[in-house]
Amino acid sequence: MNPVPDKNAAHKAKMQQQQAAVAERVKAAQEKRGTLIVITGNGKGKSTSGFGTVVRALGYDLKTAVVQYVKGTWPCGERDLLQKLGVPFHVMGTGFTWDTQDRDKDIAAAQEAWAASKVFLADPEIHVLLLDELTYMLSYEYLDLEEVLTALANRPVEQTVVITGRDAHPRLIELADTVSEVQPVKHAFDAGIKARKGVDW
Ligand code: ATP
Ligand code: MG
Repeated sequence: MNPVPDKNAAHKAKMQQQQAAVAERVKAAQEKRGTLIVITGNGKGKSTSGFGTVVRALGYDLKTAVVQYVKGTWPCGERDLLQKLGVPFHVMGTGFTWDTQDRDKDIAAAQEAWAASKVFLADPEIHVLLLDELTYMLSYEYLDLEEVLTALANRPVEQTVVITGRDAHPRLIELADTVSEVQPVKHAFDAGIKARKGVDW
């Protein structure tokens, strides 16, 4: 007896079943609006996911904007590319808080980045807005939680916002439509491998 045809037939039946289940779910999803996406957790891939979504929208000539919280003084390949493409890009230029060690200066820079974010959050032309590393502004209480949640909730209906960063606030998770937690199974850095240009930044 040849077991291969049986295996093929079983695979085909399983795929047909899966196809029907997916088609059913696609049919059920009828609401058309932008979403709030939160990419959190300790693993690598949060900012790259956010920038990937921005690039996806740009591929269809849709308008995008980026506000980069925390890491403004660091080099960033995506920033250089998107600025060349004319994407509005606000950078909170103070660097990490453990480098600046100046809370008042950090708060002022966070407020400035938030003011830029609010302008984007009120612009119905913007299809995708990336608020990279915003989560830390809420955990350090540099920004007012209620104000941030209200502005996110009242954004234009077609606008998608991607927020990245570790330790997303539970209220942010509650408000979001899509939340992914990136888990570090392994990271090259832990094995002593240096972060690489064009890969890690
Ligand atoms: P990426 O920008 O690569 O998508 P990320 O946004 O998920 O990373 P951040 O916490 O913003 O992660 O990390 C900033 C830098 O630290 C990036 O260079 C990233 O590659 C690196 N990094 C991310 N996760 C880890 C980890 N678990 N251990 C060590 N380095 C990490
Ligand atoms: Mg990041």
